[in-house]
Amino acid sequence: MDTYDVIIIGTGAGGGTLARHLAPSGKRILLLERGDWLPRELENWLTEAVFVDNRYVTPDTWYDADGTPFQPGVHYFVGGATKLYGAALYRLRKEDFGELRHHDGVSPAWPIAYDELEPYYTLAEQLYHVHGARGEDPTEPPSSAPYPHPAVSHEPRIQQLADDLAAAGYRPFHAPCGIMLDESNPPFSTCIRCSTCDGFPCLVHAKSDADVLGVRPALEHPNVTLLTNAKVVRLDTNSEGTAVTEVVVERDGAEERFAGDVVVAACGAANTAKLLLQSASDTHPNGLANGSDQVGRNYMFHDSTAVLALSREENATAYQKTLGLNDFYFGSDDFDYPLGNVQMVGKSQAAMFRGERPQATRLAPEWTLERMARHAIDFWLSTEDLPRPENRVTVNDGKLTLAYTETNAEAKKRLYAKVKSMLGKLDMNPDHLIHRFAYMKNDIPIAGCAHQAGTCRFGTDAATSALDVNCKAHELDNLYVVDTSVFPSIGAVNPALTAMANSLRVGDHLLERLK
Ligand SMILES: Cc1cc2nc3c(=O)[nH]c(=O)nc-3n(C[C@H](O)[C@H](O)[C@H](O)COP(=O)(O)OP(=O)(O)OC[C@H]3O[C@@H](n4cnc5c(N)ncnc54)[C@H](O)[C@@H]3O)c2cc1C
Ligand code: SF4
Repeated sequence: MDTYDVIIIGTGAGGGTLARHLAPSGKRILLLERGDWLPRELENWLTEAVFVDNRYVTPDTWYDADGTPFQPGVHYFVGGATKLYGAALYRLRKEDFGELRHHDGVSPAWPIAYDELEPYYTLAEQLYHVHGARGEDPTEPPSSAPYPHPAVSHEPRIQQLADDLAAAGYRPFHAPCGIMLDESNPPFSTCIRCSTCDGFPCLVHAKSDADVLGVRPALEHPNVTLLTNAKVVRLDTNSEGTAVTEVVVERDGAEERFAGDVVVAACGAANTAKLLLQSASDTHPNGLANGSDQVGRNYMFHDSTAVLALSREENATAYQKTLGLNDFYFGSDDFDYPLGNVQMVGKSQAAMFRGERPQATRLAPEWTLERMARHAIDFWLSTEDLPRPENRVTVNDGKLTLAYTETNAEAKKRLYAKVKSMLGKLDMNPDHLIHRFAYMKNDIPIAGCAHQAGTCRFGTDAATSALDVNCKAHELDNLYVVDTSVFPSIGAVNPALTAMANSLRVGDHLLERLK
């Protein structure tokens, strides 16, 4: 059996980032990824292929609490979900690391303060080429360095939106974007600033994803090995149950086994929980590292809504994701609890609306779908989802079940109402704020699990968390987790940069440990 210093399972925001951080150490590192390289093909940028045919979504079947099957919106490739993500790379707010009272309950504190993660946020912003402007976002946490790249400029209609918002008394800001765009030197810019970014793979590898900026740089080191199409199905331990001794992989229809001094799970929140739960044994009867009964619980995924407003003038924007609004992040004048974050989502295209005709035409009967797409200005509204123990992943006979009940519906409704109430002042049709199900890939709410988190939270108390402060399993000496499953709470901004930063923090701990 091949033996490594470190085995990393999953190559997304958590695993890919960790691989890059550990690679220069010279340690023998094995990356196990169940997916393949995402093919570079014209379909990367074809709206129908990506949004209607779901070309890059796994055919996996999961089940809801009633046993109803659904196709989850997850992506198994080198780079994981970041191959398709919108690359809005936000830091959590400083306050998100403390306890925050919400309409539906408490968002629990993290076991580390913002200040402990801050240097790693800075490093993650550098590794992932984040473009932004400090000092504009009123809720922005303190930072030790400027953004490594200037903010991506607004195109004219979005600049007008920013001006109109400011004139109405709001504080819009340039959103942090992970794209390798050099506006000062367009002929040499890797990114061409196109309209097929958010939710699409990047055909020219200019998106700051964990394949291009995590795994590939790691593989430049001869001590790093990647196996694709290598699905980890089980972790076996020594007879005392104190250390993982074998990582069991299904590859090309056969079983292979690998050993690592350190084993790191980074399969994404649902799949990391699944792996630990299906690794139950005599010494870990409830699943690996699950003496606390926390593994699989506290699943969160953001109460997000993609909506479009209809601009009076046409909106010719190509890359729309340049603006954010956090004025309601912690509440509003008529609501004492947090509402959430408002940002832009990739520009609507008529082909995305296929299947949405009934709803769209009911709300705007005089509009054709093509005309709607031309006038659309698209927003992404996110309210924090609270961790509930009953919202959980369980595994029976290898089948993943996701039991989920929405939290914070009142705050979500109010955030939508706030945005709708602004439209008249923003040169948009005041009556229409239309839901865009296509972006969510599916109108079954739990299937839109892009922002999945929780299921394996870290903490100081082994009775209420699965992992310790270094994201090592309380009950095992050599098992770590570095994906979004470690989040004790999710905040209302996008999760990837936090997963990357935390992975770098755990990486520093591992470098010390492996010395
Ligand atoms: C369409 C879309 C848009 C998004 N937009 C944004 C955004 O703008 N900003 C943002 O911050 N976040 C965004 N996200 C979310 C972001 O991509 C995720 O939060 C982030 O990638 C999670 O990182 P992770 O390491 O937890 O999991 P992932 O990145 O999903 O990586 C998990 C990896 O593990 C692999 N894997 C799973 N099971 C196994 C197994 N058993 N064996 C081996 N390998 C396995 C998977 O194939 C995958 O490569 C978006 C997501 C999607 C889908
Ligand atoms: S906007 Fe840039 S990073 Fe995004 S898909 Fe287009 S070329 Fe790639």
